[in-house]
Amino acid sequence: MVTTPGSIRHEWRLCLGKPRGARYPRSTCAKIGSVVATAAVVRKGDLIQVVNPATLERVRDVRVFRDDEIRGTVDLCRDAQGEWAQRSVAERIEILRKFRDAIVDHKDEIAATIVMETGKPAHEAVAVEIFYSCNMVDYYTKIAAETLRPESRSSLNPLFKTKKLEVACLPHGVVGFITPWNFPFMFTCGDIVPALLAGNGVVIKPSEITPLSGLLVERLAAELFPRDLVRVVTGYGEAGASLVGCADYVSFTGSVSTGKKVMAKAAETLTPLSLELGGKDPLIVLSDADLHRAAAATAWGALFNAGQACISVERVYVEKSVASEFTRLLVKEVEKVRQGPDEHAPIDIGSMTSARQLGIVESHVDDAVRKGAHVEIGGRRNGRYQGYFYEPTVLTGVTHDMLIMTEETFGPVIPIMAVKDREEALAMANDSRYGLSASIFTRDTRLARSMARQIRAGAVCINDCCVNYIVPELPFGGFKESGIGFRHSPGGLTKFCRQQAMLEDRIGLRREPVWFPYTEGKASLFNRLIPLLFRSGLRRKILG
Ligand code: ADP
Repeated sequence: MVTTPGSIRHEWRLCLGKPRGARYPRSTCAKIGSVVATAAVVRKGDLIQVVNPATLERVRDVRVFRDDEIRGTVDLCRDAQGEWAQRSVAERIEILRKFRDAIVDHKDEIAATIVMETGKPAHEAVAVEIFYSCNMVDYYTKIAAETLRPESRSSLNPLFKTKKLEVACLPHGVVGFITPWNFPFMFTCGDIVPALLAGNGVVIKPSEITPLSGLLVERLAAELFPRDLVRVVTGYGEAGASLVGCADYVSFTGSVSTGKKVMAKAAETLTPLSLELGGKDPLIVLSDADLHRAAAATAWGALFNAGQACISVERVYVEKSVASEFTRLLVKEVEKVRQGPDEHAPIDIGSMTSARQLGIVESHVDDAVRKGAHVEIGGRRNGRYQGYFYEPTVLTGVTHDMLIMTEETFGPVIPIMAVKDREEALAMANDSRYGLSASIFTRDTRLARSMARQIRAGAVCINDCCVNYIVPELPFGGFKESGIGFRHSPGGLTKFCRQQAMLEDRIGLRREPVWFPYTEGKASLFNRLIPLLFRSGLRRKILG
């Protein structure tokens, strides 16, 4: 095994050594049978066995980086970053655009890799993950020059008119990305775009369940960016913790419990970070809503990616008067959803990405049923396939005493609760430790806007759902335990910078009035200046 930091840079070839443009033929994947009955990833010494969760075929092994190797990789990246930061923003933009072209050129290979390690439909790999990543390059390369330009400021206080003021955006250095398994390409490829434009190097620790998309990003980047500027270190949680210990900024996307550990570890070195954590997103349907649109949106918002999205609809509150009609329409929508492995395309949803996640979904549904919920459709594993399939499910008669309404399920389950009125809907929507996003369906958009302001969540969609995530003009971040900081929008670029303030004297007096010595004359000057500058009203400023 190659272990020295200097040679780590080509290690991916050992893990994923595929020629450019090559496909992963299914015939080369070995079945690993019963071993994967309990995990989508198998820990085997210093190797991770990656498994296709839809077929249970063993796909490929990747290695586990040790702590010293991760530190070595970050050092190499930091060297590369020094040179990258010297380049103009225009040069960085040009390379990022070539990177986007490479993504487009390799979209079939990328989609195949995503499908193979997540079990999702190829359509979603393309329409969500690849689309998002290209759109991130598109958006950020358009705003980077303006957003990163040093900004001159002029003081509002006449005393400081003698100073020239400027604010510059300087890169943090090496940004460590710790990424999850639900969108393994989007969270590596898309997320690194603003960090690179801001002049950082990036080291990515992909999820041990889905490391292949990250390795593919590293391979595509290696052909365009300075050597070692974009690196991937594979491994388990320990590898993530090592990266937190040596990166200059940490961007974490994952569960609340791991996010808290990452924040505690970052506190040891006071490393700045952003956390995008879980969600339990509510969708409210008012009695005047277009119920057909609301039902179709709910089915998609809750079931795309087999419900394994932080922004997926996890709770539905519908006004009593339309609850049964809405449920009927929703069940009709869910009946039409086609599930299976991608090779059975066209399909709408695939498998869960890990056996662990399948177990969580089962336990939440079982808990709800035990406590009195009614299964309208689904409610069990899909036994037609070998992989980790759970049938799209609708539950009614749910309450907030059930895990399905309080904990993140991250699965294809739609629990519906009938509520008395919109006040109750709002109270229920806010009754959560999460606050990522929410949706409201009503024809009264004025009312919806006022309700939106009362929902404690980072984003609210009106007569729509989830799609705000792929609109980078809007900031995306969570309230409460859903996270700290945000991505997207100009702030999603500047968060990868430290602001540096510069003040330059314009006059060149021998001595400034605030400097030593402190004389009685200076004291009385300030005593007169303070009322003059800060008292309200001209008369009071002058006359006291
Ligand atoms: P899940 O529980 O849904 O699998 P996690 O939040 O645990 O998701 O994982 C998200 C990412 O965080 C993965 O890349 C994982 O390896 C990494 N990770 C897990 N534990 C730690 C840790 N203690 N420190 C840093 N990263 C970690």
